[in-house]
Amino acid sequence: MTRVLICGASVAGNALAFWLRRYGCEVTVVERAPAVRNGGYAIDIRGVALEVAQRMSIADEARRRGTDTLGTTFVDGAGRRVATLPLGFGVLDPADIEIMKGDLSRLLHEAVPDGVEWIFGDTVAALRPHGRGAEAELERGGTRDFDYVVGADGIFSRVRALAFGPSERYVHHLGSNAAIFTAPNELGITRWQLIHSGAGRVASVKTDRGDREVKVTLLYGGPLPPRDRQERLRSVEAAFDGAGWVVPRLLEVMREAPDLYVAPNAQVRMPGWTRGRVALVGDAGYAPSSLTGQGTGMALAGAYLLALQIAGGTGELSGYDARMREFVEVNQRAALRPAKGFAPRTERAARMQALSIRMLPFMPFRGLIIEAMMKEARRAAGALTLPPAAPS
Ligand SMILES: Cc1cc2nc3c(=O)[nH]c(=O)nc-3n(C[C@H](O)[C@H](O)[C@H](O)COP(=O)(O)OP(=O)(O)OC[C@H]3O[C@@H](n4cnc5c(N)ncnc54)[C@H](O)[C@@H]3O)c2cc1C
Repeated sequence: MTRVLICGASVAGNALAFWLRRYGCEVTVVERAPAVRNGGYAIDIRGVALEVAQRMSIADEARRRGTDTLGTTFVDGAGRRVATLPLGFGVLDPADIEIMKGDLSRLLHEAVPDGVEWIFGDTVAALRPHGRGAEAELERGGTRDFDYVVGADGIFSRVRALAFGPSERYVHHLGSNAAIFTAPNELGITRWQLIHSGAGRVASVKTDRGDREVKVTLLYGGPLPPRDRQERLRSVEAAFDGAGWVVPRLLEVMREAPDLYVAPNAQVRMPGWTRGRVALVGDAGYAPSSLTGQGTGMALAGAYLLALQIAGGTGELSGYDARMREFVEVNQRAALRPAKGFAPRTERAARMQALSIRMLPFMPFRGLIIEAMMKEARRAAGALTLPPAAPS
């Protein structure tokens, strides 16, 4: 039986474990966190990723567990309503699924067929690739031999560092970060999202299936977030210093939030994602940036293609590189524009932005304007033709 080690149990790792197990591989997953990680904001399943979710038979359940936002209101620094749009911000099409990142990871994990070995609270300490696979040494002990080792361990992938070289070579920060956490719904909103934009920063609060809690995203310009938690908190506080609306209260809640996740808005750019029998999938190999929500779709599609390649049994993985290349490039290009214009540059620009959003419903060609805004994102999400799954 083909033995595969997957490092990381989030979207890419769980999806890969699903397919490999279905194809009869012997799968071990090692995840640094003590359990599948909760937390994160809404991500979108659209285009090719929707097709993968359907082939995994999880699309209906993902829709059921999806966010149920009815609309988005933009507010000014005093909390006054500036403009309102129907649907959650980021939903391109009613057929898309918008789901909280933590809910999707859990759903994928539950869908993985029995028989996978899960090792939580550990990681790969050393990798010794050889002609027929690689020997992996785990940090908490034990050296094991695998036919394939896959890094599904996110932007700062350990497997990538061990097999391909240091992060600095591949991670390109795009100049902004997002602090994401859960807070009590003190604003009393129901199935709604509120957004407040200021110069170089955006705060968003969104309910999620029930009105007790909200998901908060604080988006701000700046360098890569510091590794130390206290410094990280201080860097977010500094970025939102003097902000209006309810931001000071949100910063207070952030300090104690157990699920705080500070995501760098960064791309991972690599010439290829396989080296012998070691491969990368998801953000570890081709993160497009957290502003697009597309990282999840790429991870689902990548896991599907990599599993097919491994199950093909030739020991040759370069077909995965070839199939993914254009999809990755199109998506990474599409992510660059939102990365530049993630927030208005000045307070005046913030007011102009609010005005144009307010005017949108009255513009004669509003359908065309919205369609043009969404065209590139939609094209990127669909820029891959999936081969059929292998018989299981
Ligand atoms: C907690 C969390 C919240 C997120 N929230 C959002 C969001 O709101 N919006 C958005 O667009 N994207 C978010 N992302 C990123 C999003 O999940 C990815 O862009 C996309 O889904 C691809 O997923 P991935 O599985 O490749 O990487 P990730 O989701 O980053 O998962 C990597 C996994 O590997 C584990 N890991 C990391 N290092 C090691 C190691 N050395 N050894 C073992 N395991 C390791 C991590 O704990 C994690 O479980 C979030 C990621 C996480 C982990």
